[in-house]
Amino acid sequence: MSLPLGFTGARLDRADQLRTDAAAFAATTADPRARCLALDGIDFVPGEGGGLRWEPLDPADDRALLLLGLDDARVPHFVRESAPSQRIDARSRTVMRLLPLLSGEDAALYGGARSLVDWHARHRFCAACGTATALFRGGWGRKCGQCNAEHFPRVDPVVIMLAEYDGRVLIGRQAGFPPGFFSALAGFVEPGESLEEAVARELFEEAGIRVSEVTYVASQPWPFPSSLMIGCRAVANDPALTLDTTEIEAAMWVDRAGVRAALAGDMGAPFVAPPPLAIARHLLEDWAG
Ligand SMILES: [Zn+2]
Repeated sequence: MSLPLGFTGARLDRADQLRTDAAAFAATTADPRARCLALDGIDFVPGEGGGLRWEPLDPADDRALLLLGLDDARVPHFVRESAPSQRIDARSRTVMRLLPLLSGEDAALYGGARSLVDWHARHRFCAACGTATALFRGGWGRKCGQCNAEHFPRVDPVVIMLAEYDGRVLIGRQAGFPPGFFSALAGFVEPGESLEEAVARELFEEAGIRVSEVTYVASQPWPFPSSLMIGCRAVANDPALTLDTTEIEAAMWVDRAGVRAALAGDMGAPFVAPPPLAIARHLLEDWAG
């Protein structure tokens, strides 16, 4: 892998022990060095010198503090829960325009905070009994006072994969992609299947190909709103495609020269490659060598 994977590499100590120790957590919020991540809705606010903007804790702000972790100097870093009246659109990718301004470490920190804030905003009531829930574990869970159910921030596993056949890989595009843009095929893992089975099922559903030899390559978070992208490779048994056009608009097999040209941004490349923050780009780089 030539570049670090997107949304990975946050260096904060998540300090799990503080989440369950009320006195220690209170002391952390009283630390005069403590900092809170500035957000506009759920998007980050660029700092003055680039990067994320961090602010002192505002005692007048009554929104709950979610503990992101401690830095190397043990300075506590928080983000605040959104106000119940605030509407946030966690699927909005408008922030993608700004993300290239961030270091990989800041993008990782922001991505985790974004997923966490969004989860709280969408899980204010108990899924079991409908009662309003209260935040606990320093912001890493919610508990129902009525039925005692505990709810934890969700992570949605998604397999994303390159099928290979005779020196070429399969890429596809959805109707909403920018012109010429192709990526690896992907889909959510469903209950009752392994990652390998999810890869095989998605490739058959979307492209009509049967595969074997599914192997794991790498993973990264994707905070829109809270996916974990699990990058894999597979070997196709036959290259004939039958596309599910409700999922993908087009798909094609590309050889290494074509993939390398796309990654280099060549004008004559057969497709436009995914951006560096996307694991699809890493899968293509890994495959193209
Ligand atoms: Zn409940």
